[in-house]
Amino acid sequence: VTAVSYEAIARAFAAGDPRELSDRGLADRFGCKVEFVARVRREAGLPRYTRRARSIRERVEVKVRELSRPVGDGHQEWAGQVSGDGVPVVRVPGLCTTVGRVAFQMANGRPPEGNVKPGCALAHCVAPGCQTDRPIRAALRAPVAGVGA
Ligand SMILES: [Zn+2]
Repeated sequence: VTAVSYEAIARAFAAGDPRELSDRGLADRFGCKVEFVARVRREAGLPRYTRRARSIRERVEVKVRELSRPVGDGHQEWAGQVSGDGVPVVRVPGLCTTVGRVAFQMANGRPPEGNVKPGCALAHCVAPGCQTDRPIRAALRAPVAGVGA
């Protein structure tokens, strides 16, 4: 097994959700041993594959689509539950999370890093395209660093 495929597997994990990618599935895709994929996962400190992760995510995404209402200009408001401080939350068996985190993954195909906040001016907007995580906010800030927060 070459170093190149180690990188390829690490990239495959980074591009998706490690909880939804089985060692066996990646081993088949890259033509390497299951133990090798398991080692990449372990060394990167990634969560284990769980058969339920995908079905829970699909269920929560259906609920988010059902309860999001377009309010113009691509923004969406939440017609479901909110937390004590007004943050849209969504609950399915096995998962309770903020709508922003689910919407972020729907738009980006990967789980968010750090907090998720809408990048637009609509308070608690839940439009997938409006959600930002820490790396995205850092990238948006970079060109105008020093011009203010
Ligand atoms: Zn928005």
